Amino acid sequence: MKTEDQRATMNPSTTGSQTPADGGHTGARTASVDPARGAPSGRNIRALPASVLTPPPPAPSPRLDDYRDIIGQAQVDALRFLARDLKKKSIKMVNSTAVGGGVAEMLNRLVPLLSELEVPTHWDVITGGNDFFEVTKAFHNALHGSRYELTKAAQEIFLNYNEQNRERLQFEEELVVIHDPQPVGLIRSRDKSSASWVWRCHIDLSNPDERVWEFLRPFVEQYDAAIFSSASFARQLPIPQYLFYPCIDPLSEKNKDLPDSVVQKVCDEFGIDRRRPIVTQVSRFDRLKDPVGVVHAYKLAKKYVDCQLVLAGGGASDDPEGAAVLQEVKEAAGSDPDIIILDLPPWCAFEINAIQRASTIVVQKSIKEGFGLTVTEALWKGKPTIAGSVGGIPNQIIHKLTGVLVHSVEGCAFQIRYLLTHPDFARRIGASGREHVKENFLMTTNVKRWLLLFRILEESKAARGAGR
Ligand code: UDP
Repeated sequence: MKTEDQRATMNPSTTGSQTPADGGHTGARTASVDPARGAPSGRNIRALPASVLTPPPPAPSPRLDDYRDIIGQAQVDALRFLARDLKKKSIKMVNSTAVGGGVAEMLNRLVPLLSELEVPTHWDVITGGNDFFEVTKAFHNALHGSRYELTKAAQEIFLNYNEQNRERLQFEEELVVIHDPQPVGLIRSRDKSSASWVWRCHIDLSNPDERVWEFLRPFVEQYDAAIFSSASFARQLPIPQYLFYPCIDPLSEKNKDLPDSVVQKVCDEFGIDRRRPIVTQVSRFDRLKDPVGVVHAYKLAKKYVDCQLVLAGGGASDDPEGAAVLQEVKEAAGSDPDIIILDLPPWCAFEINAIQRASTIVVQKSIKEGFGLTVTEALWKGKPTIAGSVGGIPNQIIHKLTGVLVHSVEGCAFQIRYLLTHPDFARRIGASGREHVKENFLMTTNVKRWLLLFRILEESKAARGAGR
């Protein structure tokens, strides 16, 4: 949980020139961090090379034309065309953090691209004390289905900070987009603005704690529309609902193309042998990502096919639960020298990119999942991907077409063995997976969805005005 001080200093400017959350990889690294990470602490846990111990300087944001080689000139032209009637109309995005997490990462790329299309887009971050963020974290978990006792005190903390932010922020744009539940109460400023108001919900609301949802629902119902990341995440609401898939930026450090020599260098640094098959899962050390299940699946498959297992994760050093899960993974791994566990600092986007690219197969054996961006990242790299059939993953993996879905350790082991022994099939699903991402889950597709929605909302606003 971030502190108020951290949040205050991270507040993005409103010009659309934020620092990319995933950093860059050129030039010297400057800030210093926990030196203990560099030391190995177990047989399978690899010592990190000095190059990853400090964060890289931020990479510059890409321009729209930089995407031409990926999506083609016609798609870039389509975006310019869609933006034409929106010129000078502006958007405000509001969320609760400027760094960390997928929402900030997406906004970091989306805001400059919309602004480049002459749809000026401003990004504000709400502020709050630790008490606010403790309540909103608990709401977040409760909306995901955990048990929670909603007290009067928690409701007041939530409402008071929403009011404070409402007084601080101006709403002068034509479209106001509020991300997730934390700032949902800003809708109370609706009467003071002529904007269309949209609630962009990034979390899975399919099975929420009813009391928390009933507390939030009256706010949500005042919006002009709601957007969810998967049809299965949505609720019954009296307002129009839209489906916007999450997206990745193909030009970010995490996803940009890398020369093979660079991939090789990263593998050498981490002691990964590229001459033998590599099975990888990239995930926080979290039980819901089932890293121990991945170790068991690998061990079952390994009886029949040679391979190495790379578990690249993070968060274990600053999250007590993460440290416990990492310990469980180490115990499950035992003394197998072919299991490589990497506890990476949060800025290792470039290294994760290289490891994903070096992999023969990528696994995401989640038991519960939001959308599962690691799956999107693997598919984009053309990797045959095995993933748990949970959350947003089935939107991405069409079984046996763009990857394979599994429901158990044994199923995962079977698919590892199958894909390693059927390289043509593996290549085919990898290639289809990449096409599926290109069509649906790239940042440029996301820009297109925003432009279309903005045009729809402007038209209905005009129609309402004419009907008056
Ligand atoms: N990730 C990372 N470092 C890690 C583990 C994960 O940068 O040590 C990244 C991963 O590449 C992906 C994101 O964090 O971009 C995780 O998103 P996902 O939707 O897969 O899962 P979440 O962690 O949000 O539940």
